[in-house]
Amino acid sequence: MNIRDETVLRELNLYPLWVRRGVPVTAESAPASPAPIEGARPEPAVSGEPVQRQAEAPATSTLNWAELKQQVHDCTACKLRAGCTQTVFGVGDEKAEWLFVGEGPGADEDAQGEPFVGQAGKLLDNMLAAIKLKRGDNVYIANIVKCRPPNNRTPEPDEIATCLPYLQQQIALIKPKLIVALGKTAATSLLGRETTLGSLRGTLHDFHGTPLIVTYHPAYLLRSPAEKAHAWEDLQQAVSAMRELKG
Ligand code: SF4
Repeated sequence: MNIRDETVLRELNLYPLWVRRGVPVTAESAPASPAPIEGARPEPAVSGEPVQRQAEAPATSTLNWAELKQQVHDCTACKLRAGCTQTVFGVGDEKAEWLFVGEGPGADEDAQGEPFVGQAGKLLDNMLAAIKLKRGDNVYIANIVKCRPPNNRTPEPDEIATCLPYLQQQIALIKPKLIVALGKTAATSLLGRETTLGSLRGTLHDFHGTPLIVTYHPAYLLRSPAEKAHAWEDLQQAVSAMRELKG
């Protein structure tokens, strides 16, 4: 463990758990083989649970980046637009191998027009640093909905359904090697499966041909720091999967 690794772990508040568990420190020491990729049409996790259709991915992107950004900027297609300051499109490397997807803008994001700023954003940056990634450098960050829901409530199904095509277009343009869904809303919206986040963790899912891993939303980790160790396990799985994907 080098000094930088130790610093990152302490920032993530993972260091003590890490030592107790004997978890390897470097991204290189992540498990050699990822979990098997699930099929594109996932089975219900629990019998009797409602199953949503997996979000439709566009066959090809019909808009270029400038057109897509303008469309989102001008969008008033759902009721969220009336209550937000501005749309929050996404940020990062438009050719990134890594795509991190959250739920929707909060107050800080709404004010600044960028996803994952504020305390949750700092934690996400620390999570990225822990696996030797950096915002904007081979990393793109976006949300399921582009406008802030009032009082930071969870986006409603009709709002998600209306906004999701924008994210799908972003995915088609970026062509990431791996998607990391941050939190239940991002995971269930992309996978089309209404179930618990816990049941989706630990598996390499498939989003229309792009592998997808599920972990906790940084805002949740701020409220539940004990789960940071589990988030680290998910990140290790993501690093391992990316290594496999890159051969
Ligand atoms: Fe449009 Fe999405 Fe904003 Fe709704 S949340 S107004 S669909 S950009």
